[in-house]
Amino acid sequence: MNWIKFLGTSGGRFVLINQLRKTGGIWFCIDDTNILVDPGPGTLTRCLKSRPKLNPRDLDAIILTHKHLDHSNDVNLMIEAMTNGGWDKKGVLFTPSDALDEDPIVLHHFRNKVDKIVKLKEKGKYSIGNISFETPVKHVHGVETYGLNISGKNNTVSLISDTKYFEGLEKVYRGDILILNVVMHKGKEHILHLDISDAEKIISKNKPKLCIITHFGMTMVKAKPWEVAETLSKKTGVNVVAASDGMKLDLGEYNK
Ligand SMILES: [Zn+2]
Repeated sequence: MNWIKFLGTSGGRFVLINQLRKTGGIWFCIDDTNILVDPGPGTLTRCLKSRPKLNPRDLDAIILTHKHLDHSNDVNLMIEAMTNGGWDKKGVLFTPSDALDEDPIVLHHFRNKVDKIVKLKEKGKYSIGNISFETPVKHVHGVETYGLNISGKNNTVSLISDTKYFEGLEKVYRGDILILNVVMHKGKEHILHLDISDAEKIISKNKPKLCIITHFGMTMVKAKPWEVAETLSKKTGVNVVAASDGMKLDLGEYNK
């Protein structure tokens, strides 16, 4: 069975440091391939406390969309857990190069515990296990950042990770299921994140089968994400759902 689990739905530093929402990233299980995207603080605890428990040793890969703390803090720990404390060398880490090079978040000590480290780049195409994914465009977010188009046999999922809106953004994320990191209720020019009006524009143009908004900052938490999702559904005619911590989505009903 194919599914996605939201181990955390927090975005932005104040929701993070107060843990108003968890920061465990997103676990994808598609065609028997398990990938963990953006392991923020507390990811391992979130995996082990899941019901049923998620075993990090089942992971085939860890993907960092970028190196900000709420997306990457537990990357070393999750490599340790994926590789059984380093005893079983396995798995692939996909990451922008600035998480490895300058002021690196991935410690050298952990780098040879995985089978391979692959540096993400614009228009990159990758495969892992039974799935493939692309990083179509470099985002506008201060550090090197990518979104993902993940393809399995029956499912396509797009994840628009952190970015300021830019012309054409939605055109390269055409998955049947669209996951949107909507940090802000109403954006400000200097803050490099999507807000509700950006989300509405993207959803209206792309018309995915399902859109899930997640990665909420303080203004979104206060605005009650489930109410925002309902309004977006009415405005766009697309089923929009607000992710909650621990929410599991069965992909079966969204098959191609
Ligand atoms: Zn970020």
